[in-house]
Amino acid sequence: MVKEFRQAKWSEPLIFEIGREGRIGHMVPTPSEEVREVVGEVEKLIPEVLRRKREPELPEVSEVEVVQHYTRLSQMNYGVDTGFYPLGSCTMKYNPRVNEELASMDEVAWIHPYQDESTVQGALELMYRLEKWLAEITGMHRFTLQPAAGAHGEYVGVQIIRAYHKYNGELGKRDEIIIPDSAHGTNPASAAMAGFKVIVVPSNEDGCVDIDALKAAVSERTAGLMLTNPNTLGIFEEKIGEIARIVHDAGGLLYYDGANLNAIVGKVRPGDMGFDIVHLNLHKTFSTPHGGGGPGAGPVGVTKELEKFLPVPLVEYDGEKYYLDWDRPYSIGKVKGFYGNFNVLVKAFAYILALGEKGLKTAAEISVLNTNYIVKKLGKVRGFELPYGKGKPRKHECVFSASPMKRDTKVKALDVAKRLLDFGIHAPTMYFPLIVHEALMIEPTETATKEQLDEFIEALSRISEEAYNNPEVVLSAPHNTSVTRLDEAMAARPKTLFLTWKMYLEKVGEK
Ligand SMILES: *Cc1c(COP(=O)(O)O)cnc(C)c1O
Repeated sequence: MVKEFRQAKWSEPLIFEIGREGRIGHMVPTPSEEVREVVGEVEKLIPEVLRRKREPELPEVSEVEVVQHYTRLSQMNYGVDTGFYPLGSCTMKYNPRVNEELASMDEVAWIHPYQDESTVQGALELMYRLEKWLAEITGMHRFTLQPAAGAHGEYVGVQIIRAYHKYNGELGKRDEIIIPDSAHGTNPASAAMAGFKVIVVPSNEDGCVDIDALKAAVSERTAGLMLTNPNTLGIFEEKIGEIARIVHDAGGLLYYDGANLNAIVGKVRPGDMGFDIVHLNLHKTFSTPHGGGGPGAGPVGVTKELEKFLPVPLVEYDGEKYYLDWDRPYSIGKVKGFYGNFNVLVKAFAYILALGEKGLKTAAEISVLNTNYIVKKLGKVRGFELPYGKGKPRKHECVFSASPMKRDTKVKALDVAKRLLDFGIHAPTMYFPLIVHEALMIEPTETATKEQLDEFIEALSRISEEAYNNPEVVLSAPHNTSVTRLDEAMAARPKTLFLTWKMYLEKVGEK
């Protein structure tokens, strides 16, 4: 049954606009003479030009005002705790609360990266063991846990590809990275940022890499190939063995974008498919809340041959104690402050420990089952079609096209996505991958129940009926949300965005 849904609508001022001068919501102990002296010494080290000229302009509010303000804002928002969140490619699964509890324990939240190694043995052991697990899960030899996200992991991985060819004296010659046209935009961006030329290979009608096109694309200039498997259409590249052979024979390396690992955890391993470098998105597959710009983690794993290029430091164990190894002459260097987003590593560790081998496998299986349930049901709804790989099962996600609906009724994928919000359901990813017109990329994950899937299908069926009988309702959606139809183009224009209070004040001419 589709739910009745009305989002809260507060005319909420900015936090800077509430409160009164002098109002505070916290108590800080008066610093001792000793502390003040140290602060004074430190202040003297700051160059004059960098010293603050006036007090910072902070909101002056009581605790209750802060709590009420942010609670009201949260009521005008939508998240995995509110309901179904089928945002394709993002693996927006529900994140067990126990992970949060563990990550906020004093021993995790209050340790300092400058602490002596002897005082953080538990943290080092956790990283050491997590690295071993990720290596086991992916079939790689060793991992760095430092990168802060998938895209960061890609950049690190491509730097390792560079280091490898440089080591072999081939860097000048190998300047091309091959990427399929279904790839996530971060892949070509990472390759280009690392100085490589991007060569795009097309997909065939099965939605997989066109092998002949790949053969034509590789050459003595190939540095590597970046691939997601299952790919962004949710289709498993069955010819991965052949793809690996073609790239390796040409002297290139294979990079695995692990954003879609949720579909195959415990079933197949990128290492066994022939990949040399792998990144994982711990915040996707291994359950950390993401999407609001919070911390993530994109560990990068490599084969034994590439181990020496990994960033410093790595966590080692000498039989008695854990320690950080900085003595790695071929390392590409440091890629992140300290040792990565440790609290995310703790959540992934807890998640893997709780599920175990069997649980991880089951999660992957249910994510695939849920997707294929949607494929079967939505395939029957008027206006939607499933392009590429006709009749092939999907893995963790599927990409429908609303092209028939657009042709018949003028209702586009964008309008369908907006209308879904009226039913209290988060929109799927739209217009990606680029090879599908009017794309709706749906990833239910294993944490959606059958009832939620049925509700989602029912909502889409209703939208289809509306599109064919009363398109105006869909074209002007959403109606039941805190803010209604937004102008996406305007929101993306820098001149109309006020990202800070200071920018806003400058704009309205107060400063
Ligand atoms: C999410 C995603 C990325 C980028 O990962 P971030 O953690 O968001 O930086 C790369 N590739 C694919 C296929 C993705 O879905």
